Amino acid sequence: MGKEEKIGITVKKDENFSEWYSQVCLEQGAKLVDIRYGVQGFVVHRPWAFKILRRVYDYFDEEVEKDGHQPFLFPTVIPEENLIREKEHAGFAPDVFWVTEAGTEKLERRVALRPTGETAIYPIYALWIRSYKDLPFKGYQSRITVFRNEKTTRPFLRGREFMFYETHDVFATHKEATQQITKDMEIMEEVVRKKLKLPFIFFKRPQWDKFKGADETYASDTLMPDGKRNQMSSTHDLGQKFAKAYQIQIQDENGKEQYPWQTCFGPGIYRIMAALIGIHGDDTGLILPFDVAPTQLIIVPITFSKDQEKTKKVIAKCQQIKEKIKNFGYRVEVDLTENSPGFKFNNWEMLGVPIRIEIGPKEAEEETLTIARRTSREKKKIKIAELEKEIKKSAEILEKEMAEKAEKYFEGKTKETNSKKELIEIMRTYRGFVKVPFCSISSDGEKCADILKEETVGGCVCGIKLENPEKAKKTDKCVICGKEAKHIVYVAKSY
Ligand SMILES: [Zn+2]
Repeated sequence: MGKEEKIGITVKKDENFSEWYSQVCLEQGAKLVDIRYGVQGFVVHRPWAFKILRRVYDYFDEEVEKDGHQPFLFPTVIPEENLIREKEHAGFAPDVFWVTEAGTEKLERRVALRPTGETAIYPIYALWIRSYKDLPFKGYQSRITVFRNEKTTRPFLRGREFMFYETHDVFATHKEATQQITKDMEIMEEVVRKKLKLPFIFFKRPQWDKFKGADETYASDTLMPDGKRNQMSSTHDLGQKFAKAYQIQIQDENGKEQYPWQTCFGPGIYRIMAALIGIHGDDTGLILPFDVAPTQLIIVPITFSKDQEKTKKVIAKCQQIKEKIKNFGYRVEVDLTENSPGFKFNNWEMLGVPIRIEIGPKEAEEETLTIARRTSREKKKIKIAELEKEIKKSAEILEKEMAEKAEKYFEGKTKETNSKKELIEIMRTYRGFVKVPFCSISSDGEKCADILKEETVGGCVCGIKLENPEKAKKTDKCVICGKEAKHIVYVAKSY
């Protein structure tokens, strides 16, 4: 079929994940991004990807608003003096894009393109938040991008401009701030595990891997099929550092000036998208949860061009079914392109459309149709009268299959050892987490982490598990220095 464009992935996901991932994202795959924009590291998000991303944003908006956050939108540019006011946070400066000119004039003060929002938002918080009565104060911005001068870039994993989400909360006490960290985790559970069917572990990051300026960083990591950790969210306990740097002060009940406590939460929209692609996808393309898919059901007419009458009848039936399904409240299309049914099947499978409906001349006569899930591809003939019930059932089974497959994949990706030699050996070929006893995740342990990284060629200490934490035994020794191990940490390679 000369008129059909070429689609299809030429490598197997398990054999060459990196190439598989690129192909799925690009022209021959699901056409998620276009990297031909012409500025290195800046990509165009195409409609299919953008619709998925929008849905992820919607989920988070709903959850953070339920948790009492108000939306706002701050400018993209940040005055330099604000960006560097918090000493540790100023460490962002080397990765920042700067605007230095406007028209033919050089700007008197250069401004940064936001690498993250704290330094844009907190000087204004200092004006808004004056009294304990203003607290807790919870704000967020959604559907924005940030800019970082990354050296290497990959679609949805690392970009110079990337999709961002941030909440910024202010509390009267540190206790309330830590309670928010738990709430942020619940939001991740709700959106990423329940709705997107993506598995992950919450970690407390080591001191050397925390957000610049934060007291502590908590993060959720999943594993991509190449074994690298993918940080899908982080919540930073900012303590009072930013409040002090940006003069956010409140009058307490006794009229005394106090510094409040702050947290910020950032689900990595880009990284979550990468996980959706990488973890759920298979050798033929994307697999999307039913509720996430831009098109939830695709109807493919099975027609034979020789018999015009039959063809007409089939098409009419497809249109009729489409209207019916629309009325059930689902997003549905009929593929009326000139392509062969086989090509159409491949195309919609590549895009990850959860449910396919096939209608041929026989089905049009009999008031039946064939329904298939993207996960198992198992076909089932059903009566049109049972359509609504069958769609619901198929969607439920599909999501269950996705969740089970992803959890099973993730559970099988952790090994453990207490020997350095074995750790090095495992990390050479293993694609996953390795649990090891480790001396300390306070700054004392940084030297061991550096050695570990060097000897395992890129292994990072992800931190200690927050839920059901594993305690080191009294006899456990740090896998690197041999001193007493305070923790069991997870090690993985990272993007
Ligand atoms: Zn050590």
